[in-house]
Amino acid sequence: MAGSSAVPKTMKAAYLVGTRQVEIREVPVPAPAPDEVLVRVEAVGVCGSDVHYYEHGRIGRYVVEGPLILGHEASGVVVAAGHLVKHLRPGQRVAIEPGVTCGRCEACKSGRYNLCPHVRFLATPPVDGAFAQYIAHRADFVHPIPDDMSYEQAAMVEPFSVALHAIRRSGMRPGDRVAIAGMGPVGLLTVAAARRLGAGDVIVSDTVDKRLQLALQLGASEAVHAKQGSLAAAVRERWPEGVDVAIETAGHPDAFASLLPALCRGGRLAVVGLSPLPLKELDLTQLTDGEIDIVGVFRYANTYPAGIQLMRELDVWNLITDTFPLAETGDALERARTQKSESVKVVVYPQA
Ligand SMILES: [Zn+2]
Ligand SMILES: [Zn+2]
Repeated sequence: MAGSSAVPKTMKAAYLVGTRQVEIREVPVPAPAPDEVLVRVEAVGVCGSDVHYYEHGRIGRYVVEGPLILGHEASGVVVAAGHLVKHLRPGQRVAIEPGVTCGRCEACKSGRYNLCPHVRFLATPPVDGAFAQYIAHRADFVHPIPDDMSYEQAAMVEPFSVALHAIRRSGMRPGDRVAIAGMGPVGLLTVAAARRLGAGDVIVSDTVDKRLQLALQLGASEAVHAKQGSLAAAVRERWPEGVDVAIETAGHPDAFASLLPALCRGGRLAVVGLSPLPLKELDLTQLTDGEIDIVGVFRYANTYPAGIQLMRELDVWNLITDTFPLAETGDALERARTQKSESVKVVVYPQA
């Protein structure tokens, strides 16, 4: 192992120890395996999933059984590398891709490694996450970033990857008209990604004015307040034939229902948002008559190199509304939980 001399023996980490209870603990700094690097964590974004575990202790079949470190949108600097690691060395600034896959199963070998049944994803129980001063992570999921990229930008490559994967799955081509429902961080980043990848007009909807404003700043051409009008009606008013591509990031059946009739014949709908609510009704004639494709989007695969390049031009301070030191990780989660209309992306600094 190279470069370990400056690494302390212990570190601080923020553990979720109960419902809405976070405790800072002093624990040993992990030792990297031969194929891992040790990263000093510099910035970590708070994700909706972190807030969900913090508030409910579970997401579907993933249940928090013991103290768990949350946080999976992370960046930092390599401070030590296992002896099998060739492409990274101490001092390299990096973005951490949180899902470490097996590399051997059919999903991995076909290039759809986001579907690997053996994935270990940060901050998904029982795997600890990145609200900690150091993290050991398999080196092939640790990506170098350019010198001019901030740690905040590098951390945001994670949710940006979801946006990129959604756009790939949607089949969007340059010039396409795109409708996007839900302007949380992923929806907003999908607007930014769509524009960078050549989308024509982008029309969005949400129920929070501030988020609609942000969407317009990031390149949307029209923003619809979902309580004041329907996205499909706004689309049809401007483009009677409909949009080519629709992307659902709101995680609500109403958003899904508003997108389907906004599509042109031959259009494609990508669903990112998770919803516990059932779909009320689905007009199957719209599907068959329009020959509509509906695709699901689960995390992402092979997005980091492109995401890092596209992220260089993005001013993430449009999205980062709150920052906290590691000692206040509980406050960061509480802020994200309670201020959904004011707060967009919350960032924790483990070294602060
Ligand atoms: Zn996330
Ligand atoms: Zn696999």
